[in-house]
Amino acid sequence: MTTGRVHLHPRRAKPLYARHPWVYPAAIASVEGDPADGDEVDVHAHGGAFVARGLYNSRSRLRVRLYSWEPDQPLDQAFFHNRIAEAIRLRRDVLGWVGPHRACRLIFSEGDGLSGLTVDLYDRWLVVQFTSLALAMRREMFADILSELLNPAGIYLRTERGVGKLEGLEIQDGLLQGEPPSGPILIREPGPMAGIEVEFLVDVAEGQKTGFYLDQRENRLAVARYAAGRRVLDAFCYSGGFGLACLRGGAEAVIGVDSSEAAVKLARLNAARNGFSEQQAAYHRADVFEFMQEAVRHRERFGVVVLDPPKFARTKSAVEDALRGYRRLLTLAHLLLAPEGILVLCCCSGLITMEMLEELSGQVAASAKRTVQLLERRGQPPDHPVVISCLESAYLKCLIQRIL
Ligand code: SAH
Repeated sequence: MTTGRVHLHPRRAKPLYARHPWVYPAAIASVEGDPADGDEVDVHAHGGAFVARGLYNSRSRLRVRLYSWEPDQPLDQAFFHNRIAEAIRLRRDVLGWVGPHRACRLIFSEGDGLSGLTVDLYDRWLVVQFTSLALAMRREMFADILSELLNPAGIYLRTERGVGKLEGLEIQDGLLQGEPPSGPILIREPGPMAGIEVEFLVDVAEGQKTGFYLDQRENRLAVARYAAGRRVLDAFCYSGGFGLACLRGGAEAVIGVDSSEAAVKLARLNAARNGFSEQQAAYHRADVFEFMQEAVRHRERFGVVVLDPPKFARTKSAVEDALRGYRRLLTLAHLLLAPEGILVLCCCSGLITMEMLEELSGQVAASAKRTVQLLERRGQPPDHPVVISCLESAYLKCLIQRIL
């Protein structure tokens, strides 16, 4: 049941009619009916026409998040059940990424018409992340729907840092339903050679994000195809993703670097689990910038350099600094790459575009006086769908370059 109506200023309804799901405060002329945070509201255009139905939060910059464009459609359990079932069908029936020891993103927020809800699947466990207060208030309902549809062993709640401030959201991380896993969860990702997979241990309670960077699945595979016989620098390696895929693709050796002790430990464990020796896979806890600088000083050479840093730019004002960071990383990578080496540049900041990365790559290539071939322009895998009405859902970039 709706408790309020949100009336828009003139000319502010167009993107919302086109199913963009965010209503900003600046678009709102008035709010009728005094809705509480988390309540259902109908959004109306300046002329009075119904636009969409959503959930209200006076504390968020995303004042209303829209979920339905059908008039009189209640945002109740049946509604969310259908939408979640639709998301699951893509991963399970279309992609075939659901099953024993499989991992995937089951629900990708805006990408699945569920702004503020992310759900990852690791074997028989689910990890739920809320970035919306209104959805977090309905967490028991979501846990019930997910249990009914998937019958998981357990459902974990993980909250990204900073969300509390943005949404007025204070929730305790932990088990929502079912049983915790007895230890790290074993998942298997496809490797570059048919039939040989890569195994990873995932710590859903303590690991980064929900425990694993599922969004790099296909990029790891793509990079591994270039790695045979080469020495690989896996910079910002976390639990070893790119490097272990490269070793499966026949890389000679991998050096992984991450500033997190827990990440490096997990990467070593994962390397051993996949049968790689410490000579094949060596991991260092270090700052990547310093490590690369030292490697340049020692005249080290690599056949592949993977750069997969964390989100450098969270706000518009941080973009310039972020690009400076990328420039530094690219410059160092050029100095470390052998002729005809492969440079992999990843970026998960939505604010930094593919065009910016290409322009920067061109500038670095020019200063280094080297020819750069762009072999692949890649994005995110299909379990992180980009919904065309909200291009903000496209965030991951991965450029594979050959440096002559
Ligand atoms: N490539 C990984 C994901 C990387 S996420 C994968 O495929 O799974 C980014 C990683 O960078 C995190 O593990 C974080 O601990 C690490 N990190 C952040 N800043 C760093 C720095 N300055 N030096 C080294 N590692 C850093």
